[in-house]
Amino acid sequence: MLEIFYPEIDINSIYDLPLDLLKTKGIRLICFDIDNTVVPYDVPEPSFKEISFFKNLMEKGFKVCFISNNTHHRTDLFNEKIGGYALPRASKPKAKKLLEFLDSLNITAEETALVGDQLFTDVWCAKNAKALSILVKPVSNRDQIQTKVKRGLERMVYKRYLKWKKKHPESGNLV
Ligand SMILES: [Mg+2]
Repeated sequence: MLEIFYPEIDINSIYDLPLDLLKTKGIRLICFDIDNTVVPYDVPEPSFKEISFFKNLMEKGFKVCFISNNTHHRTDLFNEKIGGYALPRASKPKAKKLLEFLDSLNITAEETALVGDQLFTDVWCAKNAKALSILVKPVSNRDQIQTKVKRGLERMVYKRYLKWKKKHPESGNLV
């Protein structure tokens, strides 16, 4: 039952994304949560390192989108120097906004990966949308209050996931 929160891929950071595997799987769009997935929540703009990373993804033929439950100020400012797509107030873990956005791009959920640091928002949203779910470790331990509350429970589920992964080496983790 908890498997709805278990990612298909889990890696340390966005820089470990298995791009060749994603290409093989037909992924065309990679959606990124911003807060604690790419930068800490209180860092408003990407650094040169992050800008280069996302530009490189786009040069490799992936479309990039920043999907956040935060406001458009957050997504637009962060995306400004990158030039990807921005999907603010996405209401993760619900999939409705993401699916509407995919429709507008003519991209299917099967062609989409969602990368995030939270099981209860990002992974669950990806699962709800039937997109590929990719979990990364939070880039900092600074969290907004509402996120802090969820972290404790998430840690419990994450431990269950690690046990489950050991028992299911073939299906738990694609990398
Ligand atoms: Mg996050």
